[in-house]
Amino acid sequence: MLLTNIKVASEQVSFLQAVRQGLGQQQGLFFPTSWPKLDIEQLLNLDFIPRSSQILHALIGDELSYAEVEAMVAAAFNFPAPLMPISENLHCLELFHGPTLAFKDFGARFMAQALAKAQQGKKTTIVTATSGDTGAAVAHAFYRQPGVNVVILFPKGKISPLQEKLFTTLGENITALAVDGDFDQCQALVKQVFDQTELVQKLNINSANSINISRLFAQICYYFEAVAQVPASERKQLVFAVPSGNFGNLTAGLIAKALGLPIKRLLAATNNNDTVPRYWRSGQWQPKPTVATLSNAMDVSAPNNWPRVEALLAQGVIQRSDIATVAIDEDDTKLGIKQLAQAGYTSEPHAAVAFKALKRNVQQDELGIFLATAHPAKFKEQVENILGTPLSLPEALSRCAAEQSLSVNIAADFAALQQVLLGLDLA
Ligand SMILES: *Cc1c(COP(=O)(O)O)cnc(C)c1O
Repeated sequence: MLLTNIKVASEQVSFLQAVRQGLGQQQGLFFPTSWPKLDIEQLLNLDFIPRSSQILHALIGDELSYAEVEAMVAAAFNFPAPLMPISENLHCLELFHGPTLAFKDFGARFMAQALAKAQQGKKTTIVTATSGDTGAAVAHAFYRQPGVNVVILFPKGKISPLQEKLFTTLGENITALAVDGDFDQCQALVKQVFDQTELVQKLNINSANSINISRLFAQICYYFEAVAQVPASERKQLVFAVPSGNFGNLTAGLIAKALGLPIKRLLAATNNNDTVPRYWRSGQWQPKPTVATLSNAMDVSAPNNWPRVEALLAQGVIQRSDIATVAIDEDDTKLGIKQLAQAGYTSEPHAAVAFKALKRNVQQDELGIFLATAHPAKFKEQVENILGTPLSLPEALSRCAAEQSLSVNIAADFAALQQVLLGLDLA
């Protein structure tokens, strides 16, 4: 199947080409213009790995054999995505059982597999901006992968110390840059890199952000996994609440629905960075300066996957009424964490935003599923402050919390970034 540049329709590439390139001309996103027909009932009866392999093989097409895709999926998705009951009509889909304890492990690990196929023996430099979890997931997915250098930009002092330790302590082929600015500035710097054609070619630069189509496709699979865990008789009334920042996760859910998965509606839940909820009401796209919140991986005011949501609407495979938007403020986020604790479930700010959005929007005859995108221990300080009880760290976190950060400080300035890139080992 060919993928088309949303901005430059004449640019059409294969899946592996899109994985290599990341972005197309004029920073356009690659996206399918048509969708495969899937036998949903048959898929829902399969286990996670064979089901995900069939979905991804259908989306990718014959560029990779089914056996190749299955091997990639088995290597990438080596952890579960359990659906946990919270109350009678609310469930939580736990997406944080991967090595960096956040849902971004799904996309990053599948992308590492896809890039190994796409690379054709050429050394690749991955340049990516992170508001927290991307950095860790990408760093771990590509750590020690032959032929890959990873450069991660993060807003200095704006992500949790633990989150930071998960990707700044690795070293070797992983370079972490602490940028004196916010996430949108980091993202703008990465976009600037992609405008420098010569530099991009010389270093074979790739972004592993959620703009990479391989990450997006991977994320479709856990929506199927969620529905497969719901008894068949309850599958007609499903509402998913998605804690949203760059809107990759929501886009993946919308694609799952477009592919025929029984989802009644998806709720885009944001924190105070509410560009999309305001746009949904007013029709005016007016990003404001990013504000810092408890759910800091969602502190994004110019979500870069939004053009794909618009593309799904323009294709007619998603209707406006399939999407609802809710912004949850800081007090409500804290309240959500407390209410979940009262229900016997320890959570964290991102999942709590989705939980509160769901509580506002779900109807009595519906079954609501909110996505838990990070392990609560990743936001230990905030959760402990809100609940007033200590939280223990899982082993993966306590191990790297004890290590030293190897990050390098840079100004939010393209020249500084370029200097770092040109100093990388290209051999
Ligand atoms: C990245 C992230 C989000 C936001 O996901 P998007 O796909 O960017 O909308 C939500 N929660 C956590 C914990 C994240 O790391």
